[in-house]
Amino acid sequence: MNVELRFYPDPVLQQRAAPIAALDEEVRQLAAGMLELMKDRRGIGLAGPQVGALHRIFVMSLGGEQPVDRVLINPEILDREGSVVGEEGCLSFPGLYAKIVRPEWIRYRALNLEGNVEEKEAEGLEARVILHETDHLDGILFLKRMSPAEKQMLSRSLRELEQDFEELHPDQSRGRAKARPRR
Ligand code: ZN
Repeated sequence: MNVELRFYPDPVLQQRAAPIAALDEEVRQLAAGMLELMKDRRGIGLAGPQVGALHRIFVMSLGGEQPVDRVLINPEILDREGSVVGEEGCLSFPGLYAKIVRPEWIRYRALNLEGNVEEKEAEGLEARVILHETDHLDGILFLKRMSPAEKQMLSRSLRELEQDFEELHPDQSRGRAKARPRR
């Protein structure tokens, strides 16, 4: 399946994705396309809304010596503990990184592509990716998890992304453009 990456501030990134009811061929093709795109962009996680698919699915692959491709469907965070700061990026915000506070440890449940329920614990980077991607499924971007100071530091890059989006999609950002003085 040919999937295309959506960039901030595409409105689809702020919508809540719907649970996946059946693990059919369409879902398998979506997952395969998302994994391919994620690797292409050298990412470690990618969620449905980031390719315009408002379904509760994300893919991840943490790298290391034996990277494992994973597909998580209808994920739920059951428990979380601690808090830790780590640097995070997002494929929908190219070139932009920020320090984000996240729980250190989580317990989560998700379906895999075979339809089996996985209930597991994760910590460190793995927990961070699962939390970041699950946020995407609720329309929550990592911007929302940043401190005001962190956001301020990135304001120029954010504005550039907003301008790029406006140029590419003048129809979708009319409201946004109107609020700003014309040049
Ligand atoms: Zn992201």
